[in-house]
Amino acid sequence: MPVINRLPDLLVNQIAAGEVVERPASVLKEVLENAVDAGSRAIEVQLEQGGVRRIRVSDDGCGIERDDLALALERHATSKIASLDDLERVGTMGFRGEALAAISAVARTTITSRATGASHAWKIDGDDRSLSPAALNAGTVVDVADLYYNTPARRKFLKSESTEYAHCDEMFRRVALARPDLGMQLSHNGRVIHRLPAGEADRRVAALMGDDFLAHAREVHAEGGPLRLTGFASLPAYSRASRDAQYFFINGRYVRDKLLTHALREAYADILHGSRHPAYVLFLELDPAGVDVNVHPAKIEVRFRESRAVHQFVFHAVKRTLAESGASRAGLVAD
Ligand code: ADP
Ligand code: MG
Repeated sequence: MPVINRLPDLLVNQIAAGEVVERPASVLKEVLENAVDAGSRAIEVQLEQGGVRRIRVSDDGCGIERDDLALALERHATSKIASLDDLERVGTMGFRGEALAAISAVARTTITSRATGASHAWKIDGDDRSLSPAALNAGTVVDVADLYYNTPARRKFLKSESTEYAHCDEMFRRVALARPDLGMQLSHNGRVIHRLPAGEADRRVAALMGDDFLAHAREVHAEGGPLRLTGFASLPAYSRASRDAQYFFINGRYVRDKLLTHALREAYADILHGSRHPAYVLFLELDPAGVDVNVHPAKIEVRFRESRAVHQFVFHAVKRTLAESGASRAGLVAD
């Protein structure tokens, strides 16, 4: 008869890390989103060796109380929801309370934080959970070093430094596009890559997508009942050979969704050849209760309550915007 054992916490978290911590970029996503949820105004990311050696995110948000630091590293511990009701209308990026537990199970993790109003900062070591006084003016610094140092089987799946860095850069861009109101900086191996002052959405889009995109894009602005779509969609002249410049956000969260991709493809169907892809940065806002983001740990897939209505709204909003600009296949060849 096989014996059933209860797994130790560390192993449980290492198993869960398989879902949450696929690569350095997934660590960056979680830690960045925590900084956003903390109400920060400025966030700085420092990467070393593609994020494998180190990912450090510093923010000026609300911080964590000394007595909560150990809890922040516990699985299923969160300050963001307390009930099913909260879950159904969640407005924060995180809510599952599992990222830091998973990350600290597979990397050397420390959190230094000074809660608003606290006389000084505290630092917790993710390994032994020891607490020590620390120096920090405000906010939180999460330091994640040597990813997978204790799980060699996973380390083998890491790609080259440049590939892992590229994924981190992409993750940074997603958050930076979603939140132009935050000052954001990214450096890699000591070199500043992006220095983005807080400001208007179009400046942020230009900084990250290029002036050329903005010059060949139409501003989208549509409202319909509880739905609102804003952002920029490229004219066919700016079409691309790949889908690498397509950003869609729902309530500030980057998503990849078949329904939305389809709506966009349809909106461009008459003006773009099948082998070309549009570029866009679009923000859909709707009542959080109308969309379920709790489909996958990374929350990149969503489910809509009224999927047909969302599809129609996005399709018409983009199609109308492009039509108003007079974009047509014929017009574009002449462009
Ligand atoms: P979740 O984000 O789903 O709540 P995490 O494991 O990512 O779960 O974080 C656990 C908790 O730690 C958060 O709920 C939050 O209270 C706290 N926390 C994490 N990062 C920060 C930060 N940068 N600033 C303030 N609090 C933080
Ligand atoms: Mg989180």
